[in-house]
Amino acid sequence: MSRLPARQVPAVHHRRFGDWLVSTVSDGYVDSPPGAIPSLSQEEVDRLMVAAQGTPAIRTSVNMFALRGHGRTYLFDAGSGTTMGPSCGRLPETLEVAGIAPEDVDAILLTHVHPDHSNGLTSDEGEALFPRAEVIVHETELSHWFDDAAMAVATERSKTRYFAAARFRLAPYKGRLRTFRDGEEVLPGITGILCPGHTPGHASYRIASGQGGPDLMIWGDTVHIPEIQVPRPEITMLYDTEPPMAAASRRMIFETVVRDGLLVAGMHVHFPGFARMAEVDGQYRLLPEPWSYEI
Ligand SMILES: [Zn+2]
Repeated sequence: MSRLPARQVPAVHHRRFGDWLVSTVSDGYVDSPPGAIPSLSQEEVDRLMVAAQGTPAIRTSVNMFALRGHGRTYLFDAGSGTTMGPSCGRLPETLEVAGIAPEDVDAILLTHVHPDHSNGLTSDEGEALFPRAEVIVHETELSHWFDDAAMAVATERSKTRYFAAARFRLAPYKGRLRTFRDGEEVLPGITGILCPGHTPGHASYRIASGQGGPDLMIWGDTVHIPEIQVPRPEITMLYDTEPPMAAASRRMIFETVVRDGLLVAGMHVHFPGFARMAEVDGQYRLLPEPWSYEI
């Protein structure tokens, strides 16, 4: 008998979307620690997870998305680099499998500046890992993490893990960093939508297919735990900067997705991370798109 594989194949998934090819390029996964959902008791969290999936463990995909078309290569978020342990940091490998070299990337569109989304921009030595890419981020997100007064009153953990990391990882991109405002077309066919609360400048990107038909909404961290936060959008996470605002933004994005029949790509929707949504009897449902046999 041949030797059994010891690890999974690289998590890359391609999907055509109108004029574009959109690829999920996984950075790996994280396991939620107890207490990640402060408004629910651990018993309640376990009960909801068992009802949804048969076990209480919360394993969260960390998906990045690459968009290729019109002669351009864009990346939505940049992974965690070496900073989140062995279950993460796989983006360099999945990009390679997807046929994307770091120097191919024309722009990186950040949904927000948190370790699992932006630490992979830069090596631990402070070198930009994407030599040509412009980095695009909502103006409030940038100003928040560079705000000395906000940093001064933050917890020690937030000071090092969020504020200092954001400054360090963005530093080598000075001069090719661009901010946008809510509703702005940041690149042809791609509109930035502010959905604050998880972080102050957390944003989604709405992409026109170029061939008619529904748009794609790359919704960042609108949802961290689909089993809980889709049926109950009011449930917020420990990592949310302003929880009530995060919940309101989640509802706003859900409403838009359902109303316009959009395709969703979620950074923490289970790999490969594409879904549609429905509202049935006043409750939202996520309808994940299965792995596809053809591109
Ligand atoms: Zn995240």
